[in-house]
Amino acid sequence: MGKNRGNKKAKYVFRKKESLANLLQRIKLWPSRSGMLHGIKNLESKGNYLELELYCGERLQVKNSKNSRAARWLRNKIMVKACPKCAVPEWKLEKYSKTAFK
Ligand SMILES: [Zn+2]
Repeated sequence: MGKNRGNKKAKYVFRKKESLANLLQRIKLWPSRSGMLHGIKNLESKGNYLELELYCGERLQVKNSKNSRAARWLRNKIMVKACPKCAVPEWKLEKYSKTAFK
């Protein structure tokens, strides 16, 4: 009741201190260095590291840090376009665009 009722734009809210693992687990999107937004097919947490499998077949290992480039890019929404190979569904991008970081 009464949570964020008047705020239609920020439908999903994350804390800025959220760990990268939690962020990725919820958003299911990965911003690559080239500015491409990939869909995350699988995410495994291995201590300080995360193993990601993307829908386009790419696998990568990243540090689970809320201050990592990826975390910053997700928060600041730095991206050029969605990966065509991942075929990220529109609703996912829509959800992400409505996500706010406080
Ligand atoms: Zn991709």
